[in-house]
Amino acid sequence: MLADPGPFHVSRPGCGAIVPSGDGHPLYCRNAATRAGLRHFPHPAPGEVYLVFTCDQHADQAEATRLLLDRDRAELERRRDQRATVEPLAVGAAARALVARAVRYYETQGIPRTP
Ligand SMILES: [Zn+2]
Repeated sequence: MLADPGPFHVSRPGCGAIVPSGDGHPLYCRNAATRAGLRHFPHPAPGEVYLVFTCDQHADQAEATRLLLDRDRAELERRRDQRATVEPLAVGAAARALVARAVRYYETQGIPRTP
């Protein structure tokens, strides 16, 4: 589980973090995606998990983040199409299990979760 999950836009074709602008209106992070990871939304029930992208600065806004693979770059390209839909990878108990498995995998492989 993320210690402090901030607001996040799961379908952005770049970093999905939402950052304060100073005038009360949140803005999307404008940085290019450098990492792929999982973002679990336990609410509303039964909860969903998505493949998301972050910049280095916001890598702590997703679980099991890793450097981009070719398949991630292809997904980012697909998401640049405004008509592209982004479906959850899993829902409910399967979503929780997927996040736990991914985090365990990256921890046991020695892959740093954050830069
Ligand atoms: Zn960012």
